[in-house]
Amino acid sequence: MALATNLGYPRIGVQRGLKKALEAFWAGKTSSNDLLETARAIRKANWLLQKEAGIAHIPSNDFSFYDHVLDTACVVGAIPKRFGQVSGSVDLQTYSTMARGSQSVTAMEMTKWFDTNYHYIVPELAVNQDFWLASRKPVEEYLEAKALGVETRPVILGPVSFLLLAKSQDADFNRLTLLDRLLPVYEELLAELVKAGAEWVQMDEPCLVLDLDAAALSAYKKAYAMLGGISPKLKILLTTYFGNLDKNMDAVLKLPVAGLHLDLVRAPEQLAKAVSKAPAKMVLSLGVIDGRNIWRADLAGALALVEPAVKKLGQDRVLIGPSCSFLHSPIDLEAETKLDREMKSWLAFAKQKLGEIAAVARAASKGRRAVAAALEDCRKAMRAKKTSPRIVNPAVRKRLAKATKTMAKRKSPYAKRIKLQNKHLGLPHFPTTTIGSLPQTPEVRANRASYKAGRIDRAAYENFIKEETKRAVLWQEEIGVDVLVHGEFERNDMVEYFGEQLKGFAFTENGWVQSYGSRCVKPPIIYGDVSRPDPMTVRWSRYAQSLSSRPVKGMLTGPVTILQWSFVRNDQPRSTTCRQVALAIRDEVVDLEAAGIKVIQIDEPALREGLPLRKKDRKSYLKWGVEAFRFSSCGVKDETQIHTHMCYCEFGDIPEAIAALDADVISMEASRSKMELLDSFRKFRYPNGIGPGVYDIHSPRVPSKEEMESLLMKALDVFNKEQLWVNPDCGLKTRRWEEVRPSVAAMVAAAKSLRKKINSHAGAAV
Ligand code: GLN
Ligand code: ZN
Repeated sequence: MALATNLGYPRIGVQRGLKKALEAFWAGKTSSNDLLETARAIRKANWLLQKEAGIAHIPSNDFSFYDHVLDTACVVGAIPKRFGQVSGSVDLQTYSTMARGSQSVTAMEMTKWFDTNYHYIVPELAVNQDFWLASRKPVEEYLEAKALGVETRPVILGPVSFLLLAKSQDADFNRLTLLDRLLPVYEELLAELVKAGAEWVQMDEPCLVLDLDAAALSAYKKAYAMLGGISPKLKILLTTYFGNLDKNMDAVLKLPVAGLHLDLVRAPEQLAKAVSKAPAKMVLSLGVIDGRNIWRADLAGALALVEPAVKKLGQDRVLIGPSCSFLHSPIDLEAETKLDREMKSWLAFAKQKLGEIAAVARAASKGRRAVAAALEDCRKAMRAKKTSPRIVNPAVRKRLAKATKTMAKRKSPYAKRIKLQNKHLGLPHFPTTTIGSLPQTPEVRANRASYKAGRIDRAAYENFIKEETKRAVLWQEEIGVDVLVHGEFERNDMVEYFGEQLKGFAFTENGWVQSYGSRCVKPPIIYGDVSRPDPMTVRWSRYAQSLSSRPVKGMLTGPVTILQWSFVRNDQPRSTTCRQVALAIRDEVVDLEAAGIKVIQIDEPALREGLPLRKKDRKSYLKWGVEAFRFSSCGVKDETQIHTHMCYCEFGDIPEAIAALDADVISMEASRSKMELLDSFRKFRYPNGIGPGVYDIHSPRVPSKEEMESLLMKALDVFNKEQLWVNPDCGLKTRRWEEVRPSVAAMVAAAKSLRKKINSHAGAAV
């Protein structure tokens, strides 16, 4: 039999039960026992559901209270000293503090998990790091499932990926040198799992899909030579996902593991090589059902991949599974009551995807006939989707086909534009601005909720927003900000707000996916050709501009970010979908200009995040991504100033692409890292206007004028005084007015003080 397998199931629970339980616990409203109880119920429901669905290899230890990388750090005893001397397993309070920080200790760092929108906690390691088996969570959860009558395959983040994903305060030290210290802990853990009765363990080594050097590959060799030999009773399934093993394939096939999992959604082309070169007894786990998207699988397409492999290897050497853990997929399509039947017939969430895995496994074992009805149903739905008028919009396609290169170019080069803009806008040196959003107070949220629930009518809601906007504009004027924002009070979310007004987007009620800890996101679904039936922001922008003689920025989300933070259709290249969004944004930009808006900001915080994992794929992504931004921004006159914004990513490695956006001004997050960003701009001379953030908007702290001024002085080492803008790291919507008012005032004072200094300096030099 080709067995059905799963790599991980969403742990947030239906209706986000874990989120609610965690937040109640953090707020001191419930006890740790209550939280443990909720967690146990979620695990139980998940295991039984998978058993019911016919999954033979069911994962355990895929549950986490916050993050599985943090869990792994806790298992191997890598608990940074500032969280106290911990003996035994970390209690829930300490665990929460590691993840979230407290008044007295800073949290561990958080960063994006490969190219997903899930964030993991970055383990902190020291040169002389000690490891020890500090928690037996994987064993406990294995036994917990067993007691429920469910045999599971414990999931463990592998030792090499664990080290590669960690960071160290100690400069210039190679984390892989810690492998010798770490492996005995893994050995001990695996031995305990064997003792508990586990037949298989799943060792996740997603770093195997990255460009690896010889040192990393030899670390893999050493690690699995050791772990593979622990017990003849234990089978290791080495799991890779999010890409192609590529050049690492040969080395991986030589590792002494019982099985290897491949992501065949992202990289189907790697299967043939794996099948032909896999050693005699190795089991291949074929990830054919997409764990990262919401589309119903093409069962026949999956089988076309699977069948030749089964033929060559034999059924017993094949597992059928998802491309990666369902951590990245919403839970249950059945919970959607507002999507129509047609739309639903195109979709599958985690629960439905389990059924798809089981169907493919069944067909792989018993032949396609065994699942004839499912195949037929799938074929019908796919054919209907292909020709549905909701998917294809001929006008959009025609326009895209006609789009020319000149549409992705401003009329004049920056040097000429900036002169016209300076005349048009009359700004001082070091102009001040903010990134867009202002505090979304409980009152703002309550009003929106009331409006959505029908408790207040549209006029009442809009009046409220108008008042908020007016107050915000007048306040900015009063404290002397140069380029104002309207505050984004009318927006819930920077992608959803646009998606709701664009054609080709659908929204779920419960399609939540964990982003980090208790935070979940509900990405829109881009299912069809994208168009903009009506202006989206012009009315609010025009109103805000009418309140002031200073420029008020038009505020839009860029095409790459809209793409990156949505579930994107898989029936055409992402680049095509991105271009469609770009043209819709372009129309909005042009309409804003016509409405008298002189400065328009198009946010692209997710540009860096979409960067492919492999270096060889990056150039083409950046090319279409940059071009999409330019399509959206280049329809305006030279006088109109285009801004963009980026944050919370390591953009240090793509300065050329950032310059190629050719925005007149870019604002970037920089203060948290104390202007580390400047280093990359020392090497690469950025030509246009730039505002490296001078205050950290994630902290309630009010920064002083002096510290912001000194950050600006630092920036003047790298940028010239004509280039430099003054702004915070990011939008202020999560902050309170009590913090924002003094912070922005101090920021304006810092800019004024700097103007004085520089100008008197210039005077003295003459
Ligand atoms: N304009 C947006 C805001 O200020 C940008 C948010 C972001 O960069 N994530 O909220
Ligand atoms: Zn930002």
